[in-house]
Amino acid sequence: MYFEDGSVFVEKQDQCMTCSNFVKGVACPLLQALGMGVVTLDGVMYVTNCGFYKEHVRHLRLIQNDEQKIDNTEE
Ligand code: SF4
Repeated sequence: MYFEDGSVFVEKQDQCMTCSNFVKGVACPLLQALGMGVVTLDGVMYVTNCGFYKEHVRHLRLIQNDEQKIDNTEE
């Protein structure tokens, strides 16, 4: 994670990549504080245990492909 030209950049190594706060883009106290300039970051910091981490769990479900269904019925 680093701060440049008024923006916070998160890197692959940061725990943020799998954090629901980062995915939703709003509710992270650390990112908000950095973005508002309340706290500053010297150099690069890898976020590994910030204390606010909430794992983002993807919920995927299979749906029927209607186009394929139509193609199959036309044959
Ligand atoms: S809560 Fe922590 S892990 Fe999540 S986005 Fe904020 S700094 Fe990253």
